[in-house]
Amino acid sequence: MPAKTLIIGAGGVGNVVAFKCAMNAEIFGEITLASRTLSKCDAIASNVKKRTGVVIKTAQVDADNIPELVKLIKKTKADIVINVALPYQDLTIMDACSQTGVDYLDTANYEHPDTARFEYKEQWAKDEQFKKAGMMGLLGSGFDPGVTNVFCAYAQKHYFDEIHTIDILDCNAGDHGYPFATNFNPEINLREVSAKGRYWENGKWIETEPMAIKQVWDYPEIGPKDSYLLYHEEMESLVKHIKGLKRIRFFMTFGESYLMHMRALENVGMLGIKPVKHKGQEIIPIEFLKTLLPDPASLGPRTKGKTNIGIFAKGVKDGKPRTIYIYQISDHEKCYEEVMAQAVSYTTGVPAMIGAKLMLEKVWYETGVHNMEEFDPDPFMEELNSQGLPWEVMELEAEETLVVG
Ligand code: NDP
Repeated sequence: MPAKTLIIGAGGVGNVVAFKCAMNAEIFGEITLASRTLSKCDAIASNVKKRTGVVIKTAQVDADNIPELVKLIKKTKADIVINVALPYQDLTIMDACSQTGVDYLDTANYEHPDTARFEYKEQWAKDEQFKKAGMMGLLGSGFDPGVTNVFCAYAQKHYFDEIHTIDILDCNAGDHGYPFATNFNPEINLREVSAKGRYWENGKWIETEPMAIKQVWDYPEIGPKDSYLLYHEEMESLVKHIKGLKRIRFFMTFGESYLMHMRALENVGMLGIKPVKHKGQEIIPIEFLKTLLPDPASLGPRTKGKTNIGIFAKGVKDGKPRTIYIYQISDHEKCYEEVMAQAVSYTTGVPAMIGAKLMLEKVWYETGVHNMEEFDPDPFMEELNSQGLPWEVMELEAEETLVVG
């Protein structure tokens, strides 16, 4: 029997999830899209109907408010909640799910609005609560985290006896024509990028100044790009689950214009997350900046170019050293053609839909709170190929690298 699905969050990612669930309506059944601003849900629902013929319901909800969420979940009789609001809402939505006995999925790690630090601690702490209620929570089912975790599990299952080092690479070579804009929620994006870098080596976390480590990686189909070491949340679960791991790092590409603007905004205090007084009123600088910057959802029709996200892994197989790069390339314009969204929203929304599909089909199902790499990667990898995110495996010489500078 088709399910009932509740999607929370009607931003760039929510748009893609709504489209992709509608395109798999035989699984997702009755779909409701709810968010803080009802008009955004209605606009998405109208586009989905025009393009796919599928009617989705809409609702207004404040996802910081547990009783409101509980009421909505009960009203929609949802079997699963796909949370694509902001990381700040993860805990309230998880609590509403456990109160109503409904499965939960998100794409981003909980972050407290007052501290720019991602951590799984509070979400993992809900494992018992979910187990007792007989439900499942799948954490981080976007691209990174999400597909990158599945790539690691796939590498572990098919290519290595032991993986020694992993570099997760996130390259966005898209151009939206603005001197400065962010491809997903500006507040979350700028908090992530301006935070201290961190990577894991020989059992310890090593902290770096923001953007202190730069390497030039040569991305297949894109070419060499400046890439900066950042902390990224999937590393916290991967160090627990990947056998023999000695080091894991995360690199993201940034262009000169983005970095120049970001540094200037940081230097004048515009990335601040603490309230400041302005003409007798309290404002949070980064929230005000968000109001000024282009809405990421509006970048869709203007963005050209490709993304290449993957994992560069070294380890051993049958006693011999081995090096591979598993990656996925998306084209911003093709994504827009299909679901009216640029590739950053697309590459997040499609894996969210796939994770939810595998949960509803009980292909990936285990009570408690889980990360992506805990499950068999094969069904997820097959879905990626058929749902719009085809991937490749590049086998390199054992000593070869994609770092060119
Ligand atoms: P947007 O800012 O475009 O959208 C967020 C949506 O959530 C908006 O519709 C917003 O409503 C809604 N929202 C915010 N607060 C509340 C609330 N209290 N109650 C109800 N709705 C609320 O962000 P994106 O679509 O770009 O990103 C969505 C999520 O995806 C984020 O958590 C982001 O971190 C994650 N992400 C994950 C990636 C991955 O690869 N794993 C990559 C990119 C993003 P309103 O319109 O009223 O503001």
